[in-house]
Amino acid sequence: MAMIDGLPPLREVIATHGLSARKALGQNFLLDLNLTAKIARQAGDLSGTDVLEIGPGPGGLTRGLLVEGARKVLAVEKDPRCLPALAEIAAAYPGRLEVIEGDALQVDALAHLTPPIAICANLPYNVGTELLVRWLTPAVWPPVWSSLTLMFQKEVAERIIAKPGDKAYGRLAVLAQWRCDAQIVMHLPPEAFTPPPKVSSAVVHLRALPAPRFDADPKLLERIVAAGFNQRRKMLRASLKGLSPEIEDHLTAVGIAPTERAERVSLEQFCALARQLA
Ligand code: SAM
Repeated sequence: MAMIDGLPPLREVIATHGLSARKALGQNFLLDLNLTAKIARQAGDLSGTDVLEIGPGPGGLTRGLLVEGARKVLAVEKDPRCLPALAEIAAAYPGRLEVIEGDALQVDALAHLTPPIAICANLPYNVGTELLVRWLTPAVWPPVWSSLTLMFQKEVAERIIAKPGDKAYGRLAVLAQWRCDAQIVMHLPPEAFTPPPKVSSAVVHLRALPAPRFDADPKLLERIVAAGFNQRRKMLRASLKGLSPEIEDHLTAVGIAPTERAERVSLEQFCALARQLA
């Protein structure tokens, strides 16, 4: 393997530190540093950017981010076994890598960084969607981060970029596309990982828009979308009944047929309904 940073190859790092993969922690490692550098490049120009990485593991993507010029990487890792390997990377890049040992769901890591901030991670699958939803729903918009470059199971990636009428269209698509440009930028087969997971993966790049695409109260939009897609086979007049006794009139007022189902309603229409119900 080509040495891109003077540190040992990842297979050696894993052997030296006894980092056998643990399923409960969603550990599927990327060992090809050319591949991790390529993923890091999907985040855009990182010079002058602080990067938050969740779950660095043995540090393959971390090294990619540093090689690609990140001003600073803050990595949050739950598995203490990985810390010595990450300390070696920190020593090779003085002042540029900080590691927090902890659960990414508990640590307010973004508060430690200075904008511009990019978030880039090969996410543990068990917490990936929850982290994404949190990043997409900050108290104020635009968020402190400028972009998210995230590895997901292919099915989750497809849910993020889905359009009305697609099978994968739902809450995640509306949430993501309301205030971000979202696209799949890479596909990875199971064999790209050690050990290989059962499913294919994809990298999604989301860029935060300066303002939402269409005006709507975030909490209300969230309630409409949750209600609509929780009972996605039902007509909207039934699934959204709990939001207003006059829901049929409101739907008609914004040009949505009360007999329509959530899976065919566009982002623009959901936002119009949120304004109507406000
Ligand atoms: N970034 C490494 C790579 O690409 O090879 C590892 C990716 S692996 C899919 C997910 C990583 O997230 C593991 O290192 C795992 O220990 C870590 N992890 C799992 N749950 C976590 C959590 N709640 N908070 C922080 N890290 C977590």
